[in-house]
Amino acid sequence: MTRTVTDVICPFCGTLCDDLEVVVSDDGKELHEVYNACAIGAEKFLHSQAKDRITRPRMRQEDGSWKEISYDEAIEYTATMLAEAKKPLMYGWSSTNCEAQAVGSEIGEAVGAVMDNTATVCHGTSLIAVQDIGIPSCTLGEVKNRADRILFWGCNPAHAHPRHMSRYSIFPRGFFTGKGHTGRKMIVVDPRPTDTASMADIHLQIEQGRDYELLNALRVAFKGEKLPDVVAGIPKEKIYEAAETLKSGRFAIIFFGMGVTQSLGKNHNIDEAIAVTRDLNEYTKAAIMPMRGHYNVTGSGQVWGWQFGFPYAVDLSRGFARYNPGETTSNDLLRRDEVDAVFVLGSDPGAHFPFSSVKKIYNLPSVVIDPHETPTSEVCKVHVPVAFVGVEVGGCAYRMDNVPIETRKVVDAPEGMMTDEEFLKRVLGRVKEIKGV
Ligand code: SF4
Repeated sequence: MTRTVTDVICPFCGTLCDDLEVVVSDDGKELHEVYNACAIGAEKFLHSQAKDRITRPRMRQEDGSWKEISYDEAIEYTATMLAEAKKPLMYGWSSTNCEAQAVGSEIGEAVGAVMDNTATVCHGTSLIAVQDIGIPSCTLGEVKNRADRILFWGCNPAHAHPRHMSRYSIFPRGFFTGKGHTGRKMIVVDPRPTDTASMADIHLQIEQGRDYELLNALRVAFKGEKLPDVVAGIPKEKIYEAAETLKSGRFAIIFFGMGVTQSLGKNHNIDEAIAVTRDLNEYTKAAIMPMRGHYNVTGSGQVWGWQFGFPYAVDLSRGFARYNPGETTSNDLLRRDEVDAVFVLGSDPGAHFPFSSVKKIYNLPSVVIDPHETPTSEVCKVHVPVAFVGVEVGGCAYRMDNVPIETRKVVDAPEGMMTDEEFLKRVLGRVKEIKGV
């Protein structure tokens, strides 16, 4: 017999869809079907049932092979590695719950680590811009109920956040948006003709890396001032048309992704995008929101925000929190040989960092905590598999609009597996013993 668990939260992307239905066996040990999720979200649930799943920690041997070790041995290795390091890097934290992030911060403080999360290679620039000039934002509920002008800049939700458009931004009928997508105008800024761009009313096919100029040109166009014939590869008529479309709406929202946060200009692009939003508020209501990737990268920024005052790249090595992106960020530290141990949880730098950084991780004492086998587990000395957060254990996660949502456990983890939080609490206890605090 089976039973269906409703209102399940998807722990994959920052959309944190909260309407999934999951069919599990009566005893809660097997997961059979997932309904309402997109393909990548469903795959995350189904992968927890993989027959070849690694369920015990393992340590890499001299010859490159793996040897199974106990959780006690993995805790001892991790605690000793962190306690003995002068300046360990504790990276990731974006695919786990806030409870585990909070324990991780305590460890970081005890050992004088640099705490960094995946924002370091995605929306860190957005966070700098927000600290510099603030942000007029809103919730995804307001977008669904009010927004009739949607601008996607440097992002491709059709692939990266597959249900974003159907649940919140383009297709749903809301309280003041009863006509659904027929009442909305969609603008996409992207150098590529993506699947998202193919749905747009206006696609501004910008030249790569010219985001700042185009943002600036929109501010000029709002005022009806003179523009050059072409800006960032876009004819001025199209820029005026986009500006008028945005101004004529009742509620405009700008969603932006890594195409603009990581291209030339970086945080200054976001400064300018926020200025565009502010200018738009002279004519209508407007808001702006980053398209956050991992399901709880927003949460790790929140947790460190209230623990240390900074959302990422927090250097605790001097006994107090320092923050200086470009200096205290993971890739800068690795490439300058400034860290002597690496701890990774809830992310995959092996797949996303430059090769020179990955090589540094390979040559250092290192531990990765991850339910999956990943490129990072291939370069780390110890791999500790744990229960899937949001599938086999609950906990708090923050959606991309900074709304905290309690994820749910729907199925048991394989016999004897630890959760992130349990593992970290044991490591913290052992670190305190070693340090005598
Ligand atoms: S859009 Fe994101 S949160 Fe929603 S089901 Fe897909 S992966 Fe999960």
